[in-house]
Amino acid sequence: MSHSERPVTDLAVIAAIAAQEEAENERFTRFLKASGGQLDDLVMAINADVEPQVSCIDCGNCCRSLIIHVEPADIPPLAEHLAIDEAAFASRYLEKGMGDAAVVSQVPCHFLSGNCCTVYPHRFSACRSFPHLDVPGVATRAFALMQQVGRCPIVFNVIKLLKSRTGFC
Ligand code: SF4
Ligand code: SF4
Repeated sequence: MSHSERPVTDLAVIAAIAAQEEAENERFTRFLKASGGQLDDLVMAINADVEPQVSCIDCGNCCRSLIIHVEPADIPPLAEHLAIDEAAFASRYLEKGMGDAAVVSQVPCHFLSGNCCTVYPHRFSACRSFPHLDVPGVATRAFALMQQVGRCPIVFNVIKLLKSRTGFC
């Protein structure tokens, strides 16, 4: 994708290309891991260009397909919004994930309706920060990030541009 091209947003196309490029993406994961902090500014700049061109409301794929991690601080505002106590919230919507972490107990997420989040102003912190391309640390998050390349149109298009701008391919 050059600067002027529209991002690819068709989820089936993105999944198919990612499957086709699996070996290349494994190599690119290693390339990102080895980059230290050197690519952070470039990733954030590309994301600032791509992200406004992708409509999450037309997608919703992360809410449909990811296990959402829940921070303890996420629970009180959402429970209050739903007018239930925190224990009822936890038993209705959460389960134990790895270690002590809580996760949303259903995929797709309980709060997804169509492609829209029904609790958007009160959504979990993990939802607010996904796909984490506006913060430094791409090298340490390389594996998790590249896991999303066939799922999230923002990640797919940022990675596509990043491969070309770094001369990777
Ligand atoms: S809380 Fe909302 S934004 Fe987060 S996964 Fe559920 S539907 Fe998506
Ligand atoms: S963050 Fe990515 S996967 Fe989630 S709705 Fe937006 S474009 Fe789709």
